[in-house]
Amino acid sequence: MTSGSGQGRRWFRRRAYINPFETLDAAGAATCTHLDAITAVTPSSDGCEDCIAAGEREWMHLRLCRTCGHVGCCDSSPQRHASAHARGSGHPIVQSYEPGEDWMWCYVDEVYVDAPEPGPSPSHP
Ligand SMILES: [Zn+2]
Ligand SMILES: [Zn+2]
Ligand SMILES: [Zn+2]
Repeated sequence: MTSGSGQGRRWFRRRAYINPFETLDAAGAATCTHLDAITAVTPSSDGCEDCIAAGEREWMHLRLCRTCGHVGCCDSSPQRHASAHARGSGHPIVQSYEPGEDWMWCYVDEVYVDAPEPGPSPSHP
């Protein structure tokens, strides 16, 4: 009887059938369920409003909350006010507030968000 080795081969073929790279794009675009949180907002400031309120201007990059217009500093900045705002307010989606960048990020799903429609880029000068 040699049936044992046959079962091992079948198990290996099933695992190899799953290709993680094939599903990445679809998952990245479809995972965020917060697209209705994206609104037309007016940026509250031309810098991180929480850093400015604290008398500091040491942020690395700026993020604009697409629900209320809060401008906060990114996770590479010392204070991380953008993610603090997202947690504290429940506003999930920020847009880059850097010149020439208009990508969006969902803090809840931790994915980049494809905007339903490309709005005017509110990047600061
Ligand atoms: Zn989301
Ligand atoms: Zn800040
Ligand atoms: Zn907000």
